[in-house]
Amino acid sequence: MQSTITSGQLHEEQPYSTGPIKELSQEEKLALLAAIVESSGDAIISKTLEGIITSWNNTAERIFGYTANEIIGRSIALLIPPERLNEETTIIERLKRGERVEHFETQRLTKDKRLLDISLTISPVKDSKGRIIGASKIARNITEQKEAERGIKENEERLRMAIESTQLGTWEYFPLEGKLIWSEECRKLYGAPKDLELNYSFFSDHVHPDDKELVQEGVSRALDPGGEGNYDIQYRILRYNDKQSRWIRAKGKAFFNAAQQADRFIGTVVDINDEKLREQELKDSVELFTVMANNVPAMIWMSGNDKFHDYFNNTWLEFTGRNVEQEKNEGWLQSVHPEDAPRCLERFSKALEEQVGFYSEYRLKRYDGEYRWVADNTVSRYNPTGEFAGFISACIDIDDQKRFNEKIKESELLLKNISNASPVALWMTDTDAQSTFVNETWIEWTGIPLEAHVESGWQECLVEEDRTATSNRFMDALQKKEKFSSEFRIRRVDGEIRWCLSEGYPYYDINNAFAGYAGSVTDITELKKMEQRKDDFIQMASHELKTPITSIKGYVQLLLSIYNEWSDEKLVSASTTVKTSLQTISKQVARLTRLVSELLDLSRIESGKLEMNMVEFDLGALVVETVEDVRHTSAHHIINIHQQDSGTVFGDRDRISQALVNLLTNAIKYSPDADKVDVYVEADNNTLTVRVKDYGIGIDKKDQQKIFDRFYRVEGKSEQTYPGFGIGLFIASEIVQRHNGSLTVESEKGKGAVFSISLPAS
Ligand code: ADP
Repeated sequence: MQSTITSGQLHEEQPYSTGPIKELSQEEKLALLAAIVESSGDAIISKTLEGIITSWNNTAERIFGYTANEIIGRSIALLIPPERLNEETTIIERLKRGERVEHFETQRLTKDKRLLDISLTISPVKDSKGRIIGASKIARNITEQKEAERGIKENEERLRMAIESTQLGTWEYFPLEGKLIWSEECRKLYGAPKDLELNYSFFSDHVHPDDKELVQEGVSRALDPGGEGNYDIQYRILRYNDKQSRWIRAKGKAFFNAAQQADRFIGTVVDINDEKLREQELKDSVELFTVMANNVPAMIWMSGNDKFHDYFNNTWLEFTGRNVEQEKNEGWLQSVHPEDAPRCLERFSKALEEQVGFYSEYRLKRYDGEYRWVADNTVSRYNPTGEFAGFISACIDIDDQKRFNEKIKESELLLKNISNASPVALWMTDTDAQSTFVNETWIEWTGIPLEAHVESGWQECLVEEDRTATSNRFMDALQKKEKFSSEFRIRRVDGEIRWCLSEGYPYYDINNAFAGYAGSVTDITELKKMEQRKDDFIQMASHELKTPITSIKGYVQLLLSIYNEWSDEKLVSASTTVKTSLQTISKQVARLTRLVSELLDLSRIESGKLEMNMVEFDLGALVVETVEDVRHTSAHHIINIHQQDSGTVFGDRDRISQALVNLLTNAIKYSPDADKVDVYVEADNNTLTVRVKDYGIGIDKKDQQKIFDRFYRVEGKSEQTYPGFGIGLFIASEIVQRHNGSLTVESEKGKGAVFSISLPAS
C-alpha cells in the first residue's frame, strides 16, 4: 500500500470497509474519506489559496502523469497552459468569496505536455473557524468526450456542407399530425419562401400533373406498414415562385410506431433537372443515331474494344440478308469472300491492337449470293472519358464503281496502247499552251521524255528556223480557239530532220470549259519528197516533151523550106537531108508516143484501169522478139540472150514485153561505159524467170526498194545526167504484179544490176 495523500489530514490509505453503516469515529471518517478519494475516477487535488498543491490522488497521477511526491508542494500553475493562467486567478477570486466553481471546462497540461480537456469542480476548503484556507479540486478528464463531441460536430459540419454543396434538401413529415418540415434547401428547391407554412397538400399541389399519380403511389408504398418504408422516386415539381417545372429525386424512409402506423417519414430531395435533361438529350441523340444509322445508305457496324462486332444497322442486315444474331461477334465473317476473310480478320486484329482506324476493301456476300466489293472505312470511337471504346465503320457497296474503274483503267490502257502504237504522234496542252501529254511515238521521235515536254514545251524539238512561226500560229489559234495546223521540221533523236504536219483542236472538259488543245503530228517527210518528185517529174516531163517537139518543129520547118524552094537540082541535093529529117521526126514521134503512153499507163494504174489482154504465149519467144526491137535503138550495146529453158505463161503479151523493154532500156541507159547487156531465161518449179543483167552504175542498197515507187529516181550527181521520169520501173512492177509475178533487183553501187521478172508458168 502506497502512501498517496500526504496532506495534513490524510496520511495513509485506509482499507475500504463495507460493513453496516454505523456512527463512525473521526478517524474512521477520515480513513473512509481517504479511501473514497483514492478510488475516485476523477483526479482530486487540494491546494492552498496560493496555488500550492497539498494533496494528489491516484487518478490525478494517472491523468497528469506526476506522482504525489513529485507534485505536492509545487504550484498548480504547472498544470495550467500558459494562455489559461489568468483562469486560475479568476477561480481563486471566486473561491475566496466562498463560491464553488462547477463543471468548468478547460484544458490542462500533463507532465509530458499533452493538453487534456478537463472538467473542473472546485470547492473552497475552510478551517474549523470557517476561514477559507485552500481549495479542493475535482478534475475529470473529458478529453475523450470532448473529442467525441468534436467528431460529432465535425460530422455535422461535414454533413451540412455536403448538403449545402449538393443542394440536398431534407424533409420530415409526420403523417399522424400532418406536419411537414422542410430544410432551407428543400424550400429553395421548391421556390417556397422561408416563412410559408407547409403541409402535405402544398407538397402534392406542386407535383407536376403528369407525375401526380407516380408520386402518390410512391408515398403510399412508403407509408404502407406492410412494406419496407422505402421511398425513391424521380418526378417533376412545379415550383411555387416561378411555376417552373423541374425534375427532382426524392429519397426517404418511413418509420412506424408500435401500432404499425407510419409516424415519421424523412428523407431528402435533390434537383436532378440538368441530369434529366442531359439524359433526355442523350436518349434523343441515341435515338437519332439509331434512326440515322438504320436509314443511311451505308452499311454500319460497331464493335466494342474486344474483338467482336455487336451492332449492325438495317442497311447492313438488308444487304447480307441475315439478322443481328447471325452477324454478331465474328458471324459477319461468314459473308466475307473466303479469299478476303483472313486478310480482313488480320487487319481488324491489328487495328484493335493499335487502336487505330483503317480502310479496307473486300467482297461481301449479298442476300442473293452475289459477292460485291465493299469499301469499309473504320474509325476508332472513344467513351466520354476518352478511353478507346472500339470501332465504328461505314461500308459502301463499291462493286459497280470498282468495275467501272476497271473499265476506265482498261480503256485508258487501251487508249494508251493505241496512242503509243499510233504512227502519228499525239499531244495535249493546257489552256496556257503548256504540254500536258505526248505519246510514246513523239517521245521515240524526239528522244525527249514526257516530263521534259511538260517543263520546257514542245517547241524545243522543232528546228530553230521553224520555232517562232509555229509557236505564233499556235498561240493565234489558241486565242481564237480555232483549229491549229502547221508544217514544221523536227530534229529527230537520230539527228535526221523530218517534216511534220501538226493539227490540233481545242477541247473542253465535262463542264464545257475550254481545257486546252489536243492534236497530232504526222511525219510528212515522204509525202514532201513525193511532192518534190512530182514537181521534178513535171519539170522533167515538160522538158522531155519539149525536146522532141522542138526537134520535130525544127525538122518540119526545114522540110517546109525545102519544099518551098522546090527545084529539081535542089531536090536531088536535099534528098539526104529530107531522109535524115524524116528519120529524126519518126524517132522523136516514137519517143513522144512512148512518153505519152507511159503517162497514160501511169494514170490507168492510178485509177485501176490498166486493162490486160490475157493470152497464153511462149515467154522465150517474147524475150527474143523484144530484145530484137530494143537492139535497133542501141548502137553501143550488144544484147546477149542466154536461154536455157522456156515455157509458156498466161498473160498480156504486150504488157510483159513493155516491162521487158523498160528493163532493157534502163540496162542500156544506166551502163554508158559498158557494151553489153545479158539476158537470161530460166525455168524453175513452175516459175519462169527473165533476168536482165547490165554492167553499169548499179544501185545503192538503200534505194533498191524505192526505185519501184512512182517518180522515184536515185538522187546523185551522176544519176542527174540520165533522162527519165521515174515511172518505168513502177509500171513494170505493176504489170508483173498483175500477173502474180515478182520484179526484183540485185545490185551493188558501181557494179551493175540484175533485174528479174518471175512469172508463174501456165
Ligand atoms: P527512169 O525513167 O528514171 O529510168 P525508172 O522507173 O525506169 O525511171 O527507174 C527508176 C530509177 O532507178 C532510175 O532513175 C535509176 O536511178 C534507177 N535505175 C533503174 N534501172 C537501173 C539500172 N539498170 N542501173 C542503175 N540504176 C537503175
